[in-house]
Amino acid sequence: MNSKTLVIVESPSKAKTINKYLGKDYVISSSMGHIIDLPKSRLAVDIENSFEPEYITIRGKAKILNDLKKKAKKSDSVLLAPDPDREGEAIAWHLKRVLEDKCPDIKRIEFNEITEAAVKEAVLHPREINESLVNAQQARRILDRIVGYYISPILWKKVKKGLSAGRVQSVALKVICDREEEIDKFIPVEYWTLEIDFDVKGKIYSAQLAQFKGEKIEISSSEQMEKIIDTLKNGKFAISEIKQKERSRKPQAPFITSKLQQEAANRLGFTSSKTMMVAQQLYEGIDVDGTGPVGLITYMRTDSTRISDVALASVRSYISSNFPSDYLPEKPNTYQNKKNAQDAHEAIRPTDVLRHPDGIKDKLNKDQYKLYNLIWKKFVASQMTPERSEINTLTIISGDYEFRASATKVLFDGFTALDKDDKAKKGKLPPMKEGDNVDVREFKPEQHFTSPPPRYNDASLVKFLEESGIGRPSTYAPTINTLIRRYYVSRNGRQLVPTVLGKLINGIVKVHFKDLVSVDFTVSMEEKLDEVEESRIEWKSMLSEFYAPFKTSVDEAEKNIEDMKGILDEETGEVCEKCGKPMLKKLGKFGFFLACSGFPECRNAKSLPLGKCPEPACDGDVVKRTSKKGRPFYACSNYPACEFVTRETPAGKPCPKCGKLLFSKSIRHKGIKMMCLNKDCGYEIELLDEESAPEGNGI
Ligand SMILES: [Zn+2]
Ligand SMILES: [Zn+2]
Ligand SMILES: [Zn+2]
Repeated sequence: MNSKTLVIVESPSKAKTINKYLGKDYVISSSMGHIIDLPKSRLAVDIENSFEPEYITIRGKAKILNDLKKKAKKSDSVLLAPDPDREGEAIAWHLKRVLEDKCPDIKRIEFNEITEAAVKEAVLHPREINESLVNAQQARRILDRIVGYYISPILWKKVKKGLSAGRVQSVALKVICDREEEIDKFIPVEYWTLEIDFDVKGKIYSAQLAQFKGEKIEISSSEQMEKIIDTLKNGKFAISEIKQKERSRKPQAPFITSKLQQEAANRLGFTSSKTMMVAQQLYEGIDVDGTGPVGLITYMRTDSTRISDVALASVRSYISSNFPSDYLPEKPNTYQNKKNAQDAHEAIRPTDVLRHPDGIKDKLNKDQYKLYNLIWKKFVASQMTPERSEINTLTIISGDYEFRASATKVLFDGFTALDKDDKAKKGKLPPMKEGDNVDVREFKPEQHFTSPPPRYNDASLVKFLEESGIGRPSTYAPTINTLIRRYYVSRNGRQLVPTVLGKLINGIVKVHFKDLVSVDFTVSMEEKLDEVEESRIEWKSMLSEFYAPFKTSVDEAEKNIEDMKGILDEETGEVCEKCGKPMLKKLGKFGFFLACSGFPECRNAKSLPLGKCPEPACDGDVVKRTSKKGRPFYACSNYPACEFVTRETPAGKPCPKCGKLLFSKSIRHKGIKMMCLNKDCGYEIELLDEESAPEGNGI
């Protein structure tokens, strides 16, 4: 008998990889993602009829669907093999519903990695569709649809056409806006540090002033610093204590989605969506040995640190054959999952630990190599022994002042043997003993200013979403993407900065839709979705519980939100130089601008003054200009009387000291500097990038 089985996956590259493992009795086809969804143009949810969704074939997908129907009709059975999560289960469910009358035997299969063993194993154990998983996806889809469809028209009516506000994005936007407010309010405080250089047998060592009369010392002015140095100059210095401490540093768990995104952002400079895109390529398969594509990592959407027994045995055998015996712990290392982890999958790990990143480097593109390298090392390190080091601290006293110097010596490198960049920082201490006199050569005072809290970046926002319980492995990257796509947030280097439009929307939503921007409320919705997935609550009753209070807030908002169109179309006193009609202040994607009230007959538009000209004696405004070569620059509206000109980027806010416009400049690998170009002022402030790698080490 020659029976044929149709296997449907959601992407062509996945189809190609699977095709390699299944024999000629299988036909592999791709659905190219979702085929069926809610229509774009209307609510398509029957609220009265217990939230019944109305699904349609997505525009442009009819041909693919017809093709699948034909193939299903010719097959004895169909196996649905989209990715192993809610989204994948929903794709499978929709496919089953439309193919049911073409083929009576339709089942679901899933595999956590696209390797020969996993695919063959999956084919042997087909199952029914998991309705609870599907319902959790439907509930999320409909919840988000209701929020978008009720709030957007209010924003159109009261503010501006085309705006929208979504569920999880609104909380993220509020968090980003709140942080910006803190930064705007921040006033830098001056402080000083003091380092001494001392000479031991012709070699120079240094120590930092740490305490005065046994307490942490704070120096706030140059006068205070000078007084301290004057006192110290006449004093004697001696070693009062040498302390030794051993420290053991354990490796971290293998990656889950959020941690992978955080570390790829911090270490590789990837955005969250780039990390997910590259991880998807590694998961779906790449030809690394000339025999066709193979999946290099396990599924990349997971919140579990669990690994399979097979993977554990193979990594332990890898470590024991490539490292001396003390690099392999006696018992396997175990890691705790977060309390709300779904634990449906394994951690993100290489499918074959013997595939060393350097061995396949020339088969991967640069980004694929970097990410695979990160995943591979994290996984191997997670089953190695801790790094042990010795921290030596030296205390020097002079009167009531205490100085400290410390150095770390690695006694045993353990898991850090995998990564040269991750070795503990060394530092050097002189060969001295307690009571020895110290010969100070130089006092090195340094002025500093406190910095404001850092702006969020991809890494720290994902960390926030994860830790507060708002995010799920599938939602981190889309949340950030949506904010950027709607121009509510823009990227300045790695930093996420709210736009004028973003602040305006946040201002409205946080007043009129308090629940939507409440972390607690959003967490409870995410938990309810998890309960739907675990069949503990019914998805339609969850929706109706949400709907009633939400609809009330929509009705209230409709009444109470003041019409902002007037504010936006405000007259500015300026007259259009082309037609003589008044110019109006408008809100565009990139902020406010001036447009002629004669629109559309007159299309004159120009940028608004950005702020006060930095020249000390000038009362002009900074305006944007474009050079003959098309490059933007900024100049004074009083030109040619005032010759101020710069290519620095306006920071969009006034100097807190003198009120002139601030400009910003990015500091490589560090963050952004905002500075006042007023020569009489000189104010500047650094907004540093937040390094949010957990426990401060790479692996
Ligand atoms: Zn005009
Ligand atoms: Zn000027
Ligand atoms: Zn200033």
